[in-house]
Amino acid sequence: MDEDQLLKSCVVILRMIVQDAMSEASLTGKVIQSLYNSLGQINDDVGRSIDSSQLQFEQRQAGNAQLKSHISSIEEAVSVSDSLETLKEQTQFCVKNLVSTLSEQQTSDQQGQEALMSLLSSMQEQIDTLQKQAVAYKKKLAEQVLQSRTDPLTRLPNRQAYNEKLEEAYLKFKSTGSALAVAVVDIDHFKAINDRFGHAVGDKTLQVVSRFLKQNLGKNHFIARWGGEEFVLLIPNTAIEDVDKHLNDLRNKLALMPFKFKQEKVTITASFGATYFTDTDTTDSVFERADQFLYKAKNEGRNKVVTDVSCD
Ligand code: GH3
Ligand code: MG
Ligand code: MG
Repeated sequence: MDEDQLLKSCVVILRMIVQDAMSEASLTGKVIQSLYNSLGQINDDVGRSIDSSQLQFEQRQAGNAQLKSHISSIEEAVSVSDSLETLKEQTQFCVKNLVSTLSEQQTSDQQGQEALMSLLSSMQEQIDTLQKQAVAYKKKLAEQVLQSRTDPLTRLPNRQAYNEKLEEAYLKFKSTGSALAVAVVDIDHFKAINDRFGHAVGDKTLQVVSRFLKQNLGKNHFIARWGGEEFVLLIPNTAIEDVDKHLNDLRNKLALMPFKFKQEKVTITASFGATYFTDTDTTDSVFERADQFLYKAKNEGRNKVVTDVSCD
């Protein structure tokens, strides 16, 4: 690769790094400032490198003109010399000049090369720094995104994460028509836990139930904390009969879990409402239907699953 190609490649790489880093819209002003500063430094280096290449080119042209003039002098000496002795003297003089010009040119080339190499290596360091910065910021950003979609108490995905997942699953359902069910889960008489044992015990219970639900999820199932003591599940590619069965298994297993608060054995149960998407459904209409089924489960005594099948 020649110098110009190398410089152009550097600039292309820089643009790619910066574009990549900037593509994350929520980068802070500080980050952009820092990337901008690094880029500014490299831009200065590229400018200086181009100037020095230009200067070197001009010096080389001047050197070549001088070399040509020395050679012309020799030619002239050959044509006008009347004695071998003068020709020898004149030729020696011209060759001396020729050698001196060549040597100057060689020194100047070498200096130019060294300057360019040092600039390129400084640019390389700056590019490395820039790349490291961009990678670190991307990582930080990914952590922030994850954090903003995680419920701090239960570490489950939060409602925002659920909404995004639902939108994605709904689009898939629309394009492929493969089954998709939504289930809402609500812990029974949870207020009584808080009232009897305190809010901290209530929090701990939410964490334990969340872990239980997460550990008992089916393959490809998604769970989020909807809010309070309510959870929401997305169950793809499963017939509603199997959804009904899976939720009943969950319900039974939870009811059998031994909870002990202040030496008192406590049974925790939950009610479930679940329904699957039909062609005429929207994400809102499905959620409303699942919520109505949950309401029905509560009315029918709690610790119950109501779905499209159990409802018929
Ligand atoms: P139901 O069987 O009808 O669902 O009764 P419930 O008591 O579970 O429902 P209700 O809506 O009356 O009460 C829910 C309670 O959940 C009230 C609220 O204080 C409590 N809660 C909501 N979020 C949290 C939380 O993060 N921590 C604790 N400890 N309690 C919470
Ligand atoms: Mg509730
Ligand atoms: Mg409840």
